[in-house]
Amino acid sequence: MTVIRQQDFIDSIEDALQFISYYHPLDYVKAVEKAYLKEESQAAKDAMAQILINSRMSAEGHRPLCQDTGIVTCFVKIGMGVSWDKTDLTVQEMVNEGTRRAYTNADNPLRASIVADPAGARKNTKDNTPAVVHIDMVPGDQVEVMIAAKGGGSENKSKMVMLNPSDDIAEWVVKTLPTMGAGWCPPGMLGIGIGGTAEKAAVLAKESLMDPVDIHELMERGPETTEEKLRLDIFKRVNGLGIGAQGLGGLTTVVDVKIMSVPTHAASKPVAMIPNCAATRHAHFHLDGSGPAELKAPKLEEWPEVTWEVGENTRRVNLDEVTKDDILDWKVGETVLLSGKMLTGRDAAHKRIQTMMENGEGLPDGVDLTNRFIYYVGPVDAVGEEVVGPAGPTTATRMDKFTDMMLEQTGLIGMIGKAERGPATVDSIAKHKAVYLMAVGGAAYLVSKAIKKSRVVAFEDLGMEAIYEFEVEDMPVTVAVDSTGANAHETGPAIWKAKIEELDSELAK
Ligand code: SF4
Repeated sequence: MTVIRQQDFIDSIEDALQFISYYHPLDYVKAVEKAYLKEESQAAKDAMAQILINSRMSAEGHRPLCQDTGIVTCFVKIGMGVSWDKTDLTVQEMVNEGTRRAYTNADNPLRASIVADPAGARKNTKDNTPAVVHIDMVPGDQVEVMIAAKGGGSENKSKMVMLNPSDDIAEWVVKTLPTMGAGWCPPGMLGIGIGGTAEKAAVLAKESLMDPVDIHELMERGPETTEEKLRLDIFKRVNGLGIGAQGLGGLTTVVDVKIMSVPTHAASKPVAMIPNCAATRHAHFHLDGSGPAELKAPKLEEWPEVTWEVGENTRRVNLDEVTKDDILDWKVGETVLLSGKMLTGRDAAHKRIQTMMENGEGLPDGVDLTNRFIYYVGPVDAVGEEVVGPAGPTTATRMDKFTDMMLEQTGLIGMIGKAERGPATVDSIAKHKAVYLMAVGGAAYLVSKAIKKSRVVAFEDLGMEAIYEFEVEDMPVTVAVDSTGANAHETGPAIWKAKIEELDSELAK
């Protein structure tokens, strides 16, 4: 009988979470490189260049790939022949302990994003616990662990459906994906779970994302099973939608589609779909009683040599002088380099501002939004010489319900975030002649290097959700909605969907 030491298990969880916070799986890096090389849409190519550069920088600097360091999701498969040297902690508690240590690591602190009482107070637990743990008893005398740190932006886009037995799964996926917007930070993967019951399908979808990217190998050898045929069908049709990296329109939306299935009731066809984002983070290890797992660090030479230069006609903007009139001629799709001061704010800060405005209190002391831009971000804490930790954009759609109030009442002229805005918000942006700029989701460490100064100006008690003032230099963004209401997330995919159809019909001739 194999005896697993509790300490080895906890140490392995801690090490794996630190490891995946800064090392992308190499299969994902290679898949994005392949997509980058073949991409014809400049906006999507630029986004993938930033994702690849960010990936290498994180690997080198041992700092998080993304400011959202995720919710820990762990699959533990325990051999029937395993026993433990101590029985005072459950497997869930051991995973929590490893998580706690990993997220409070002094050299590379990770952002604590978990809130307790989710339907009520939503109070941060401060150490990113509890983890979500799925335990299976399996034959054998080892413990197998698959662990991921799943970003909220991609998790929020998960979909579940109970199809009729005769319904077409690929059709449902292709119809559903465009409704998910770009908040899941493509290019990524789709995990699809089929069968069992509703909750089983969801767990299968998540587990399928723990497998490495191998769709091109599958294409080469040809599909043999129903799942393999479906993977290829969905892969082709989803990429044919033209959504592209960051939803800006392009050839690659997903780098792989994973499917796991189990038998189900004759009357049912449960299907769950969970996307994985540009911060694809997972590790896989076995414990056999001989000590903690050792994860092999990849070599930096494994990362592609990608450079990204802004074009000659890039607009440079001084945020300290920009006015409402200046932004009128910014055009959708244009790259802009921002320098100067901006304020930050995300969900909790917006909610509090709204309450203060409703109560007639005005903005908090120290916050003047006249002719200002607000950046939707919740950064990782800084370490050492850093001004701020990784600080990429969060999903702007969540701020939609506050945007009209912000533009109407505070003097704000622009916002920076990731992914699309809803139709009412686009109308509000056009009505107020404001702009919405997009930074690349998943390029958080790269973005943080453009931030030269940072200080908290209000709501300090909100932690990473406080309002900061950032002073930035040449921070690259794309105009996603301009002051006329032209919207890159609508025009980009439409153009590229048509182009892909054209390319496919030429190939078929
Ligand atoms: S890449 Fe996007 S979805 Fe993924 S963790 Fe980062 S911000 Fe969230």
